[in-house]
Amino acid sequence: MTDTATTTTNEIDHTTTFLKDKHINYITNLDVKKDTFEYWVTEHIRMNGMYWGLTSLNLLGALEKMDKEEIIQWILSCQKPNGGFSGNTLHDDHLLSTLSAIQILVQLDSLDRIDINPVIEYIVKLQQEDGSFFGDQWGEIDTRFSYVAILTLSLLGALDRINVNKAVEFIDRCKNFDGGFGSIPGAESHAGQIFTCVSALALVNRLDLVDIDKLGWWLCERQLPNGGLNGRPEKSSDVCYSWWVISSLCTIDRLNWINTEKLKNYILKCQDNETGGVADKPGDIPDVFHTYFGISGFSLMGQFTDQVETIDPVYALPIKTIKKLGLKAPWNKLI
Ligand SMILES: [Zn+2]
Repeated sequence: MTDTATTTTNEIDHTTTFLKDKHINYITNLDVKKDTFEYWVTEHIRMNGMYWGLTSLNLLGALEKMDKEEIIQWILSCQKPNGGFSGNTLHDDHLLSTLSAIQILVQLDSLDRIDINPVIEYIVKLQQEDGSFFGDQWGEIDTRFSYVAILTLSLLGALDRINVNKAVEFIDRCKNFDGGFGSIPGAESHAGQIFTCVSALALVNRLDLVDIDKLGWWLCERQLPNGGLNGRPEKSSDVCYSWWVISSLCTIDRLNWINTEKLKNYILKCQDNETGGVADKPGDIPDVFHTYFGISGFSLMGQFTDQVETIDPVYALPIKTIKKLGLKAPWNKLI
């Protein structure tokens, strides 16, 4: 294809322009594409997908494009007798989809549509003797679940129902010599796990356990010459790390340790100029997961502030929602 042809098909230069309207169209059309491969392989995590899509639209000021009542009815149909929520109607409950359900309901101002007590009970029962959390009845343990449990209970105003000290002890045991955190004690540091551990500690006011400068150094070393971020040493860049790494840097107040201008340009290149949406890498096919992380990345870096609302790095919700709920966020100067 010649340069002239490129200009004709894609009039907007996506490497310099934020494609807000195209992203809104991309997300609102996702649910229509029920015959696609992506729809079926992600069927079991539809609740997470709904959170990524709905939160993106909320950040873009386009929440009214969603059918609020239809979403609430579907969420209610995913609640199980034990209080947990599943990824989709016919699937089993899981802590991850339970958090997504609550994050969606608070954004829709509809927490009063459910009885929160069974949800709280569900989470309380997943805490183990050593302070860790199971993700569901099958017993997988991961610091992701510690964050998810602590965050969900924070949103429900029920943090006092678990043993917070034990939960903190477990997270602290997952801290490594490099300042990072792993999924279980002894597991290597990974940006995703660092995000969950740092955020969980922030929510219970224990950021004193984080070696901020050492961790900040590990995190800023994730930026590659192309501007993108990786999640571990020796790995390639991927837009999803813009959320995990930047949110952690924001929470420990070290965002200025990376080159945000170069990262902004990297994420812009990952936009799909034709369909809208953001991919993991430049030229790849977009998906709702990376679209959310790309838009949130811009939000955390304070880019395109006239088009993207501000998200909180710990609650992973727009700060207007946090303010409405009256929650505390001492790590966030904007709240
Ligand atoms: Zn990714």
